[in-house]
Amino acid sequence: MKIHEYQAKQLFQKFNVPIPQGGVAATPHEAYQVAEGLGGDRFVVKAQIHAGGRGKGGGVKVASSLSEVTSLADAILGMNLVTHQTGPEGRLVKKVLVEQALDIKQELYLGVVIDRAQARPVIMMSAAGGMEIEEVAARTPELIIKEAVDPAVGLQPYQTRNLAFGVGLDPILLRTASGFITNLYKMFEAYDCSLVEINPLVVTTDGQMLALDAKVTFDDNALYRHKELLELEDPDEMDPLELEATKHNLNYIRLDGTIGAMVNGAGLAMATMDLIKLAGAEPANFLDVGGGASADMIANGFRIILSDPRVKAILINIFGGILRCDVLAEGVLEAAKKVNVNVPIIVRLEGTNCEIGRNLLGESGLNFTVAGDMLDAAHKVAALA
Ligand code: ADP
Ligand code: MG
Repeated sequence: MKIHEYQAKQLFQKFNVPIPQGGVAATPHEAYQVAEGLGGDRFVVKAQIHAGGRGKGGGVKVASSLSEVTSLADAILGMNLVTHQTGPEGRLVKKVLVEQALDIKQELYLGVVIDRAQARPVIMMSAAGGMEIEEVAARTPELIIKEAVDPAVGLQPYQTRNLAFGVGLDPILLRTASGFITNLYKMFEAYDCSLVEINPLVVTTDGQMLALDAKVTFDDNALYRHKELLELEDPDEMDPLELEATKHNLNYIRLDGTIGAMVNGAGLAMATMDLIKLAGAEPANFLDVGGGASADMIANGFRIILSDPRVKAILINIFGGILRCDVLAEGVLEAAKKVNVNVPIIVRLEGTNCEIGRNLLGESGLNFTVAGDMLDAAHKVAALA
């Protein structure tokens, strides 16, 4: 689960990770009030969307007066912000963060991620802050200093010193930097994060270190331990079809292709996607209805696939075990009664009651083609799409 920059900064504050003073606003007038409360004469207005690269896309602007805060907020709120992370369709901006503008001396990068190869959290720091870290990693990897943390012993003081010295920080900032990194790591651990990233972490002209940007991703599998975090989720940032699927307990991920796929079991779903690609087509989604799906869940899954306008053909690939093939067929027919099925459907059913399932679908009068095996099904569906 991802959260907005302003929410991430509120969590930073709880862990004594310094942030610029600021507040969130949903209207230009609110933005004005936040700025007025901050005092000072330079402010930054920042679009709140779940994507980076906002600065380059025109979603981060500096204002030199209160009235400019109002006009910038007016321009940014409601804009469709396109960045390299949003995709070409962009994201609608519904909130802005208004902050005091800082006098920046140095921009650094600081991030904590899980390194799956080492099976440990890794802290990364770089003097090349403010730019895309992926670029830095590709072109000048020596500029990224890394420290893996052994979870059994925790982050050690020598490691924060290695990081601070490694990026060439002024030695006078050593204690500040060590405290900063330690507190950020505490937060990463406390909330079971999979990513915490500050780009840039700035050193101001008066020698303070602050998190200017904040990106936090929580491990969904650990969210049950942090129920208070659930209210930070912003449904506007989720794909509407994925949101709908979550409500019905379906494991659905939207993709860019044209073949809708309904499969039971994550392994079979991945194999099906491979075969669709092998047959020269692209899947429009990943959908695992689960081993023990009910007719109702099947109906909802089918409806969700059909409501994606990119879908040109559907492949139903079910191995009947706990989910019997006749139950699957009933679910599909139930859904077909309620929605208009205007694309061809290829069905591959095997396992418990597969004959009954195939007959139910075959005699339904709908546009179903029964395939012999998985590869045959993939070729047929690719040809139809
Ligand atoms: P993004 O990474 O999405 O582009 P950032 O929060 O990193 O957004 O902001 C982009 C740039 O805007 C920063 O690298 C920094 O130079 C500038 N900036 C952001 N917030 C402030 C601030 N409070 N004071 C001064 N400059 C800022
Ligand atoms: Mg940034």
